[in-house]
Amino acid sequence: MRAVVFERFGEPAEVREVPDPRPAEHGVVVRVEATGLCRSDWHAWMGHDPDVVLPHVPGHELAGVVAETGSRVTRWKAGDRVTVPFVCGCGSCPSCAAGDHQVCERQTQPGFTHWGSFARYVALEHADVNLVGVPDDLSYATAASLGCRFATAFRAVVHQGRLAAGEWVAVHGCGGVGLSAVMIAAASGARVVAVDVSPRALELARRFGAAECVDAARVPDTAEAVRELTGGGAHLSLDALGSPATCAASVNGLRRRGRHVQVGLLPSRDGSTPVPLARAIALELELLGSHGMAAHAYPAMLEMVRSAAVRPDLLVTSTITLDDAPAALAALGTAPGAGVTVIEPWA
Ligand SMILES: [Zn+2]
Ligand SMILES: [Zn+2]
Repeated sequence: MRAVVFERFGEPAEVREVPDPRPAEHGVVVRVEATGLCRSDWHAWMGHDPDVVLPHVPGHELAGVVAETGSRVTRWKAGDRVTVPFVCGCGSCPSCAAGDHQVCERQTQPGFTHWGSFARYVALEHADVNLVGVPDDLSYATAASLGCRFATAFRAVVHQGRLAAGEWVAVHGCGGVGLSAVMIAAASGARVVAVDVSPRALELARRFGAAECVDAARVPDTAEAVRELTGGGAHLSLDALGSPATCAASVNGLRRRGRHVQVGLLPSRDGSTPVPLARAIALELELLGSHGMAAHAYPAMLEMVRSAAVRPDLLVTSTITLDDAPAALAALGTAPGAGVTVIEPWA
């Protein structure tokens, strides 16, 4: 099959022929029809993820058709339309037993712990636990964006963030996950303040339901701007980009007893990030992490999509071929971009 492969971190990836994957006993091989290009793929390519072993094929937000099943798979058969959370649970550890597959102790992640979906085929582990059926009227391109960005935003806003209607939500960073969060929060009856350096991203945020926008390229103190717009600070705030500056701005823009959810990855040389903890103590803030979403939690999100309360299809702003993917992957470092780019490996 054809796949995007890199041999060294940070050096150009290339499209070439590699052996087709084979399913594990409990796994499947999926023919990839669409796969999203995500900043996490760029982190994998840059060598920020210790799980990645070279040579490597990136790609973790995918949708496609089951091509082959392992002998112990009972719920899925060849031809089924499916997607998958980017964190695949083992189904049997204590965390999975509690329903928390997104923090599974033996988790696998396509595109990180093994070869991913920038390819014609991808192997997925523990298929009965992790696959999610894609409704016939949902396109592969839209379904692909559900596996990482949209599901991550849904869990961050609804489960971890415990958003209530009427609350103020600040979203720092309006790329794919941030815009998804804006849409989900607005559909949940919250008032959203979107923060980004890109006027294009803010324009999309407004279109997707943001009540207020803060242009971080022009406003020196975005936290102060959020506190002013929300009458004292947001109830819930997300760092959807992942940087020391956006993390601090998110925490500093909260009101008393507000909740910060860290969604964007925070790579750093020593693995730590400074956080304004003094404010967290004085204002009794909650600081939370969010890491994908388990397959069993998808139905509520899919129902929101089905009823058109949220429109993940509008987040897909461009589709490219596998041959375009190496350059697009490299470009993510300098231009995170607004909206979602989807790779169609068959094109
Ligand atoms: Zn597990
Ligand atoms: Zn992703």
